[in-house]
Amino acid sequence: MDIQHFSHEHPLVLIQPANNTSTSYKCHVCIRGSGPEAGPLYGCEDCHFYLHKPCAERQLAPQIEHPLHPSHPLILNPGLDGDGSCRTYWCSCCRKNYTNFSYHCSECDYNLDLECAALVPTLKLRDPIHLLFLFEKCGHALHLHCAPITLPETVRHENHNFHDLVYTKAVAEGGYWDGHYCDACEQKRAPYLPVYYCKECNFACHVFCGISKELPSLIEAYENDCLQRGASLEAWLRYYEDKLPRLRSKKERTETKLKEIRQEIEALEEERVLYEISKLLR
Ligand SMILES: [Zn+2]
Ligand SMILES: [Zn+2]
Ligand SMILES: [Zn+2]
Ligand SMILES: [Zn+2]
Ligand SMILES: [Zn+2]
Ligand SMILES: [Zn+2]
Ligand SMILES: [Zn+2]
Ligand SMILES: [Zn+2]
Repeated sequence: MDIQHFSHEHPLVLIQPANNTSTSYKCHVCIRGSGPEAGPLYGCEDCHFYLHKPCAERQLAPQIEHPLHPSHPLILNPGLDGDGSCRTYWCSCCRKNYTNFSYHCSECDYNLDLECAALVPTLKLRDPIHLLFLFEKCGHALHLHCAPITLPETVRHENHNFHDLVYTKAVAEGGYWDGHYCDACEQKRAPYLPVYYCKECNFACHVFCGISKELPSLIEAYENDCLQRGASLEAWLRYYEDKLPRLRSKKERTETKLKEIRQEIEALEEERVLYEISKLLR
């Protein structure tokens, strides 16, 4: 049974590696080798090009948008030279060399290997200046304003509800080295980072402070958008699976606490009853 895979010009033949084979069958999708236990492969023996059966059948999106490189779409790149040999590339995220498929931006020479391309960001608050889009597996982070969510152009803030605040690239009143404070939370802000700003009143606040109310819905919209584009349904699934045990243990801890509080309340109730009885008897 032959197949034609989009990444290779020759038809690929189904091979069942023998137990004592000396050939190294390195799969071009997952870069793992293949012993007999890994099952059959599709291969072109002339080019030493192999794909595990499930890897050959894997649906790889021809193009993705990735939060680590929001400026351009990344194109699936089989990474083969004209003669069918594998080209080595450098993953811009995990900084390792690979010879298999990548997602590639030719304009910036930006590459992601398939695993890094499946990374899903979570939002982490470090402080109002650093609300980060964090890729937990690799520790990469993007500022909130660098993250691929669409920030509203104007917002209203309860500390300044007479005027709209406008998203502004940078506002540095006075000297660059003067202290700059957020007029919403009154903590420091970096003058070179974007703010929500009212020019008339010179009111400037952190991007985070400006949209803190809308943020959950913005994130949700972003997540839904990701899902709709089907970009990484699998990755999302994995993300929630990772999250589940943490949520379960949190639930347990909360339940224990709840029990303790209930017992405390009961004890107090008893005390109150005793007190009232003693008052009646007096
Ligand atoms: Zn494979
Ligand atoms: Zn070939
Ligand atoms: Zn990374
Ligand atoms: Zn990588
Ligand atoms: Zn690019
Ligand atoms: Zn940034
Ligand atoms: Zn603030
Ligand atoms: Zn104003």
